[in-house]
Amino acid sequence: HAKRAGPGEVQMYDMSMQVEMTARMRMERALQQAQQNSEFAVYFQPQVAASGEVVGAEVLLRWKDEQGRFIPPAVFVPLAERCGLIRPIGEWVLKQACEYIATFNRVVPEFTGHVSVNVSASQFMQTDYEQSVRRQVLDTGINPSRLTLEITESAFIGDMEDAIEKINSLHAFGVRFSIDDFGTGYSSLSYLRRLPVQELKIDQAFVRNLGADGRDLHMIRTIIEISRYMGLDVVAEGVETELQRNTLEAMNCWALQGYLLSPPLDGPAFLEWVRDHRQGSQVS
Ligand code: C2E
Ligand code: MG
Ligand code: MG
Ligand code: MG
Repeated sequence: HAKRAGPGEVQMYDMSMQVEMTARMRMERALQQAQQNSEFAVYFQPQVAASGEVVGAEVLLRWKDEQGRFIPPAVFVPLAERCGLIRPIGEWVLKQACEYIATFNRVVPEFTGHVSVNVSASQFMQTDYEQSVRRQVLDTGINPSRLTLEITESAFIGDMEDAIEKINSLHAFGVRFSIDDFGTGYSSLSYLRRLPVQELKIDQAFVRNLGADGRDLHMIRTIIEISRYMGLDVVAEGVETELQRNTLEAMNCWALQGYLLSPPLDGPAFLEWVRDHRQGSQVS
């Protein structure tokens, strides 16, 4: 595949590759140390039903590096997946989530909602993943039905049978499953019938243009109808405006999550928020 290139062109290409590699390696090293240096934190974003009830919270990982810079999960999660670090990081997040559920039970027993943890496909596909979930649940003594695992459709494109087996087994143990970013993946709808999942999450890409783009409205209405037909809970993410809220509630979406209701909060702030938003304490 010898290509005709002007002088310097090949070298330029190599250089930019090298710069990118160096940056990536530096970040990988920083990521390796982040856990020891306690640079990670879990945040919680409330999920609220039309009644005002807080039916759940999504755990979102935050990384503030040594220099105090905030690095978004969209940047470091894919990196952690590539270099094999997603496994220890994912275990840490799960442990935090289970420990927080135990804390919530003691401190804000009025919060009986689910706590949702994002699981990378590569983490979910590990052979000992199931065992690690069981261990964390048993170690913290929480009711497994309080824990929801959010997986994306990419978790099924590898070994579908293996994924189904894992979900079945963990569901029998009591854990809830949710399909994140539903409607953005490659899967056909038929796989849904075979999966014992309890929840679908409408991707924020569909929510964003609600009101402006009729196709997204139809897409959302369809997802909500599928959920009702299959007896699944349905959560809309990325809800930022009253228009979006009203439209989603008119379509009987089960729960809403987004900046309009609350940004992701650290543990103590989430506790405060729950105390302030007890069911019925809202005017509307
Ligand atoms: P996701 O699971 O789809 O999470 C929803 C994302 O939307 C979060 O971004 C959240 O902060 C953001 N968000 C919430 N409300 C709004 C809103 O009203 N408007 C907009 N524009 N965005 C909103 P975040 O925290 O940056 O996380 C990005 C992605 O990183 C997540 O997408 C998830 O795929 C991944 N992620 C986060 N935490 C973890 C984790 O612990 N493990 C794994 N494997 N992935 C994680
Ligand atoms: Mg999620
Ligand atoms: Mg999502
Ligand atoms: Mg998303």
